[in-house]
Amino acid sequence: MFKRVLIANRGEVAVRVIRACQELDIETVAVFSEGDRDALHSRLADQAVCIGPAPARDSYLNVANIISAAFITGAQAIHPGYGFLAENPNFAEICERVNIKFIGPTSQVIEKMGNKAEARKLMLESEVPVVPGTEGIISTEKDAINFAHNIGYPVIIKAAAGGGGRGMRIVQNDTELSQGLNTARSESEAAFGNGDVYVEKYIEEPRHVEVQILADEHGHVVHLGERDCSLQTSRHQKMLEESPCAALNPSLRNRVGEAAIRAAKAVGYTNAGTVEFLLGSRNEFFFMEMNTRIQVEHPVSEMVSGIDLVKEQIRVAAGERLGYRQRDVRLSGHAIECRITAEDPKKRFAPSVGKITKYHAPGGIGVRVDSHIFSGYVMPPYYDSLLAKVICHGHNRAEAIQRMQRSLHEMVIEGVKTTLSFHRSILSNAFFKKGEVYTNFIKRRMGEG
Ligand code: ADP
Repeated sequence: MFKRVLIANRGEVAVRVIRACQELDIETVAVFSEGDRDALHSRLADQAVCIGPAPARDSYLNVANIISAAFITGAQAIHPGYGFLAENPNFAEICERVNIKFIGPTSQVIEKMGNKAEARKLMLESEVPVVPGTEGIISTEKDAINFAHNIGYPVIIKAAAGGGGRGMRIVQNDTELSQGLNTARSESEAAFGNGDVYVEKYIEEPRHVEVQILADEHGHVVHLGERDCSLQTSRHQKMLEESPCAALNPSLRNRVGEAAIRAAKAVGYTNAGTVEFLLGSRNEFFFMEMNTRIQVEHPVSEMVSGIDLVKEQIRVAAGERLGYRQRDVRLSGHAIECRITAEDPKKRFAPSVGKITKYHAPGGIGVRVDSHIFSGYVMPPYYDSLLAKVICHGHNRAEAIQRMQRSLHEMVIEGVKTTLSFHRSILSNAFFKKGEVYTNFIKRRMGEG
């Protein structure tokens, strides 16, 4: 096992990883930017190293400074969290070259899965169902139009290198398609340094269902069931996630789980990862992409499986074997996570920054809060707007919903605009309570904007 691990991240996920390390008796090294001097993660870690000015490109994305911090402190491994460098194959490769263990899959796997068009091809070869789409990237407008005519509008243009809901465009006809191709290409070039795009059938009112997998370096792969992440803003930002998905029966759950394991095996995947699918109204499911890192919403899988995913990531990276097989994984009850962010739901979720003047976290049976904020904390304007994740577990979905409603009423965050009241109204929505959710739910049922 590692003696010392550096956490190349900030915010709640850095705190989450530090907690796992402490329970494994591993010393922790936090890194922080000049904008994060008072941050909780640097206070909780055994050591903290400043890695540069507040803007992320100068600090949390500064590979040279992070690697130097690891050398200076004698860290044997780096946990990247999510975001920042977590899915950057160059960073993982540098770690491999300088003999610091990157806690995640190999740089080759990250590279393969990072290109969505490539990943689709690989999945097709492994008989994992994928959304009907163009074969690889689009070279001419004519190819895109032919595809759209064959499959029928609407179609969705996607950036091969896209992520975080960016670089996507839904189009209804030939004119929109040809205009969309140009804008998507230039947007993607600007955002990701890669203008490659491809086109997929747009699945109407789907659910976003993703499978958590865990793979050791000895060929064992298990899945920990699925998460339903259909509740998203119109910019595809997830707001609430739950496990299990109310629409899956045991046999469909097995099929989706097995497809995810096939996907992981096809690329020689190691460590924790997520295979994302779209689930259509007739229970047909299609591979969308694979995320080669721990996800924001991982706690819901932890709550139903009783498995600490971050500890497992660290153990697997240290070469340990998974101590169980698929049949040993027991999923019980229902878990829901609300991502409480500093955003103003009345202003299309525009970010809000400032000082948290008052903070009170909910508690009690079945309630978990993963957060880095405290009363008096000043939110730096440079990073994402996540304040706290509230995760509630119950015997069934109804109990998890009641527990979440109770928790959100207990929770107090003052000083910045938050999504707390918006989350409260999702929880009391009759359609949500019935489990009738899909990716346009917030727009259709909550009158977003
Ligand atoms: P990103 O990597 O940017 O998050 P994804 O490929 O994961 O992009 O897609 C994000 C969201 O966009 C999905 O959860 C879903 O709501 C929507 N989406 C993506 N592809 C399709 C599609 N073919 N049909 C309908 N909705 C889609």
